[in-house]
Amino acid sequence: FFSKEIVRLHLIPMPKTNSTATRHIAILGGTFDPVHWGHLKPVLALADQFDWQRIHLLPTCAPPHRAQPQVLDTHRLGMLDAAATLDSRFHVDDWELRQGLPSRTLPTLKHFHQECPDACLYFVIGMDSLLNLPEWLHWERLFDYANFVVMPRPGYQLEQCRPELTELLQQRQVSADEFRGGVGKIYLAECEPVDSSATELREQLVNLTECPAMLPEPVWDYIRTHNLYAMSNNNDAALNN
Ligand code: ATP
Repeated sequence: FFSKEIVRLHLIPMPKTNSTATRHIAILGGTFDPVHWGHLKPVLALADQFDWQRIHLLPTCAPPHRAQPQVLDTHRLGMLDAAATLDSRFHVDDWELRQGLPSRTLPTLKHFHQECPDACLYFVIGMDSLLNLPEWLHWERLFDYANFVVMPRPGYQLEQCRPELTELLQQRQVSADEFRGGVGKIYLAECEPVDSSATELREQLVNLTECPAMLPEPVWDYIRTHNLYAMSNNNDAALNN
């Protein structure tokens, strides 16, 4: 019952400033069940490369095209809070969870655009998500609000992409030099690919007693403390519903 409620203090507002300097804000959405190095390492490398001041880690609410997360939303947030201790640019953002609706990227980007009209937004996705982009609702309108940066992901190649994506990239893809600032550009990042997936981790975590290489230590500590992903807890997801 009340486990569905997301009770969280909003102590850190969106950065608002009177300064004329443009703020560069990245958004990484995901199920984060759990968050792992495949999310965090590339995004940190990109933050250094493009001088992003803030990276919003945005857990999705009941993604319509996927199975429900295995752990409670409060634990997905807890694991993200643990990961956020790794770098001060990380900001855990429960906006999509608070909407209580299946997450869609277009309303999310409109929200960020309204909250930070003077900021430059970068929406970060993995190559697997790019290949799937034409399935997203109103996908062509997403580029009205943000630049998109695509993290390489082992096992996913652009050669597998559909004609409408090829066309999109012909129109919007830019080099690293042209990427910073503006809106509607796509950059295929050249950072080191990280071979990790939450699906694989969930399977491993049933039996693990030591922190796996794919997980940051603070996230492992959180998982251990709350005994997540252990065999006996696999019915946690039902509590989200
Ligand atoms: P699952 O295995 O449960 O499907 P996941 O590991 O793909 O989960 P998500 O939380 O669904 O993780 O991913 C959020 C975003 O991060 C997506 O855009 C996804 O493409 C990207 N991503 C996840 N893992 C990697 C990785 N190893 N390399 C690059 N991008 C990744």
